[in-house]
Amino acid sequence: MGILSWVTLSLILGMRCFTSSDASFSSDGLPGTGKKFLDLAKRKELADWMVGIRRKIHENPELGYEEFETSKLIRAELDKMGIAYKHPVGVTGVVGFIGTIKPPFVALRADMDALPMQEMVEWEYKSKVAGKMHACGHDAHVAMLLGAAKILQQHRSEIQGTIVLVFQPAEEGGGGAKKMLDEGALENVEAIFGIHVAPHITVGEVASRSGPLLAGSGFFEAVISGRGGHAAIPQHTIDPVVAASSVVISLQHLISREADPLDSQVVTVAKFQAGGAFNVIPDSVTIGGTFRAFSGNSLIQLKERIKEVIVRQAAVQRCNATVDFLTDEKPLFPPTVNNPDLHPFFQRAADDVLGTGKVHDMQPLMGSEDFSFYQDAVPGYFFFLGMVPESSQGNLETVHSQYFQVNEDVLPYGAALHASLATRFILEHQKGKSDSLTGGRHRDEL
Ligand SMILES: [Zn+2]
Ligand SMILES: [Zn+2]
Repeated sequence: MGILSWVTLSLILGMRCFTSSDASFSSDGLPGTGKKFLDLAKRKELADWMVGIRRKIHENPELGYEEFETSKLIRAELDKMGIAYKHPVGVTGVVGFIGTIKPPFVALRADMDALPMQEMVEWEYKSKVAGKMHACGHDAHVAMLLGAAKILQQHRSEIQGTIVLVFQPAEEGGGGAKKMLDEGALENVEAIFGIHVAPHITVGEVASRSGPLLAGSGFFEAVISGRGGHAAIPQHTIDPVVAASSVVISLQHLISREADPLDSQVVTVAKFQAGGAFNVIPDSVTIGGTFRAFSGNSLIQLKERIKEVIVRQAAVQRCNATVDFLTDEKPLFPPTVNNPDLHPFFQRAADDVLGTGKVHDMQPLMGSEDFSFYQDAVPGYFFFLGMVPESSQGNLETVHSQYFQVNEDVLPYGAALHASLATRFILEHQKGKSDSLTGGRHRDEL
């Protein structure tokens, strides 16, 4: 059966009716199919179900690699839908499969983790866990991917390929994507798509770009040690506060004097912990921060220079320094770089779901995403999905704010985009229409 029969099946299943003319599509693509996915996702029953899933996860936020209940909820829903999955992948991760379990394989990703912060929004489904909150919308990401799974599974007999559902842990610094990859989550996968909700874009609209979208990032912590003593007798001490202060200033010169002004980079010292008394010079100072860049080379160079500057600048003030890049708990994230061949594909697919004028190009951001690990392994495309109500005057509260709120109207859009990107990829790939990614070799394999 082709996509056309999906519509027939939809009618049988009592879903929203489409006219036969709605169902037609040309050999150039699948115009109209995306809109139908959106209509399905907006049906009250499915939209309410996604809202329920999202609220359940929101009430019970779990930090990176601790998403045990979230993972259990996902598996329970996949079980109810009859979707096979692998678990555990990457500690709490779940990888579901819809379709023939034959090529082409295309993956859709949702992250599951919350943040260690207190929710300040008073509402019925507020976080029940003190000091933990879904402040980045990952609860919505899970709900949208489960919504897409529901739509896709209802049409599984027509999927001539495999849709891989990747529910990953620990996006917030833990590099859960890398762990999922290392454990084979993207085996056979030819392309992967990821969505992030956005509090600055109108609901029903999306934004992304071809090439570098988000920066690569790393973290560092350094202990600068001297010799403490009485604050009034500095000559008998080796003052680590002055040494650490020089270090902070010198680190800023990496960007202002060494980096190419056209190659955006950031070094921020966000942590500076010294003594606790007015009249005591402490033995040591701990500083910490983050560094960002849009190319892997710049990121590695920054990392090397940060270590050199800290150690050598501390030595100028007779202090010793040790530098830790914390890569075990916070791996270096590569830059998030969208595959240029997937860009026009995404534009076509999103346009078909959302209508013309809703798909925007955007400037790169210095934020980072561990989706980049997937993109290092296979062609990938990451984009932002708007949440701002059309009636709203300004933006919503930013992600990672204690006041962050998801506009739940976003959920059907996410589900429909996921479903549409995956089915379109499989369909076009079978027909050899998106062979620029692979040189058409997968057609031969089929
Ligand atoms: Zn976040
Ligand atoms: Zn996030």
